[in-house]
Amino acid sequence: MAHSVAEQIGKLRAELRRHEYLYYVLDQPEISDDEYDRMMRGLRELEQKHPELITPDSPTQRVGGKPREGFVKVRHSSSMLSLDNALDEGELRDFDRRVRELVGGAPYRYASELKLDGLSMAVHYEDGLLKLAITRGDGEEGEDVTGNARTIRALPLRVEAPAPRFEVRGEVIMLLKYFEQLNAERERQGLPRYANPRNSAAGSLRVLEPRITASRKLDYCAYLFLVDGRPYYRSHWESLEALARLGFKVNSNRALCGDVDELLAFCANWEQRRDELGYEIDGVVAKVDSVAQQDALGWTSKAPRWAIAYKFAARQQETIVENIEVHVGRTGALTPVAHLRPVSVGGVTVSRATLHNEDEIGRLDVEIGDTVVIERSGDVIPKVVRVACKGKSRRPFRMPKQCPVCGGDVVRAEGGAASRCMNTNCPARLKESILHFSARGVMDIDGMGVALVDQLVDQGLVKSVADLYDLTAAQLIELERMAEKSAEKILANIQRSKQQPLARVLNGLGIPFVGERTAQILADTFGDLDKIADAGEETLQTAEEVGPKVAESIGRFFRESHNKALVERLRRAGLQFTHKARPAEGGALAGKVFVLTGTLPGMTREEAKAKIEAAGGKVTDSVSRKTSYVVAGETAGSKLDKARTLGVAVIDERTLMEMVGG
Ligand SMILES: [Zn+2]
Repeated sequence: MAHSVAEQIGKLRAELRRHEYLYYVLDQPEISDDEYDRMMRGLRELEQKHPELITPDSPTQRVGGKPREGFVKVRHSSSMLSLDNALDEGELRDFDRRVRELVGGAPYRYASELKLDGLSMAVHYEDGLLKLAITRGDGEEGEDVTGNARTIRALPLRVEAPAPRFEVRGEVIMLLKYFEQLNAERERQGLPRYANPRNSAAGSLRVLEPRITASRKLDYCAYLFLVDGRPYYRSHWESLEALARLGFKVNSNRALCGDVDELLAFCANWEQRRDELGYEIDGVVAKVDSVAQQDALGWTSKAPRWAIAYKFAARQQETIVENIEVHVGRTGALTPVAHLRPVSVGGVTVSRATLHNEDEIGRLDVEIGDTVVIERSGDVIPKVVRVACKGKSRRPFRMPKQCPVCGGDVVRAEGGAASRCMNTNCPARLKESILHFSARGVMDIDGMGVALVDQLVDQGLVKSVADLYDLTAAQLIELERMAEKSAEKILANIQRSKQQPLARVLNGLGIPFVGERTAQILADTFGDLDKIADAGEETLQTAEEVGPKVAESIGRFFRESHNKALVERLRRAGLQFTHKARPAEGGALAGKVFVLTGTLPGMTREEAKAKIEAAGGKVTDSVSRKTSYVVAGETAGSKLDKARTLGVAVIDERTLMEMVGG
């Protein structure tokens, strides 16, 4: 009897999977939604009577589990770096010229795909079952969003696998029709609209409640098939075809281009036809098709040399400037923002555009009431390109003399374009500076969002970023919508931020003209925050890319007494003021390549990596014949298996410590 129920369940699941595939992957449903729902109900009833027969890959199990507290960070099997961009035909031809030179006369082709405007996600399968889904994150490390990813119906929970463990990379997108539905619904509920489909896809994937993700009807298009972080097939095209064969959704608007002219034709065709698609694209991705040639071309520090993202030109639209208001930023700069009559630009509603500063307003000769041309490209804030028609009752914008947030004096520096609020304690400046300090890619304090920062500043709990390190659970719990658990989590995230490297601390300080890149250069060059603070402007300029303007700004920042006090408090809080030693030339581990796997008993992977690098060794993500040692901890997985297969030496933490002489 049980046998026949199992059979019945198996049959229903197979049928449901087939219809999911037809509907969500191929967009060719054979049955009505009602019929589908009826079959699903039938399966659910059978499973309820026989819970011992429920398996994680059953179509009833897409939305399951409890809401989560937060997301765990997971390292990628290999980097998910972003691609270099080509902004026009010339740049694309330059790219092709470099490829041609580097492949040394061998023939090559480009696998060309539409660049979907979504967010990348890696999905890992084991024994054919979906086990883990990770957002791209910073490319090295993302967030475990498995529970939410399972609700994406285009993503199979079960695959007839060609390898025991594999990874699929692809793009999570939201179709324009669902995006519009979602925004209409949010407006009904009095919630703010999402700016574009990509933001809403990202927001939907990162909610803590899988049921909400399920309701958002996200889509997933696969583009890469990896085993142990490496392409499994010999060419990118083969990878795409295999993915489609395995039941993944692969965008069908793709082509194998024999040369750069064919590639350009492909780009031009889709740039013209992008509005025919039910989803947003912002360009074309072209990859040298052969994986052997990809390997030969290799990578720069930032991106592969064998791939390029060709970006489409920005999109324009006309609308009316209803008002011009100022926004106070973290440096105190007042930015005029045009409030526009909402207009759809390529499927996205735009209601604001930046006007940058007074000079820009003068250059455009734009006034309130004018009809203007606005332009949107990617996720950049839309901007006003020109005035199309002067309004009949236009009135000019005047930069306020007082800060709209704190009432402090607004001053425009001699020779500068920006007007600034001079009150260093201006709450607007403070809030922005805390948000910048806490941002992802800077000090990475998860949970430190606008709502929390508003409360912290408004209630006087935080008067500078250093105050973050003195916050207590008791203070946080007093705040609105703050449970004990989330308070603890935020405090833990604040504590963890103390481990962020010097370059991020420098970036976090918000020194004018010192962003991520300059901060990294300063950290690399001087290695120590005090050396940077004490260096004269001349010394600072010995660093690459640091000119007189940047050097002066750094000097001025560290001379100001309240910044000196801030730096001292951050030092006492235990932030990283020195740069971790760069790989020593000729260290004990020079020339040795390590792979870390599993949980080490006495240190984190980051610490192990730092120790190896300090001794001149290199740490990579995947095991190959070039690997010298695999350092295995508890619950080491596939990398350990691979090491054994390849005959790579496996060592434990203690042996590693002996090798680095610690
Ligand atoms: Zn102010």
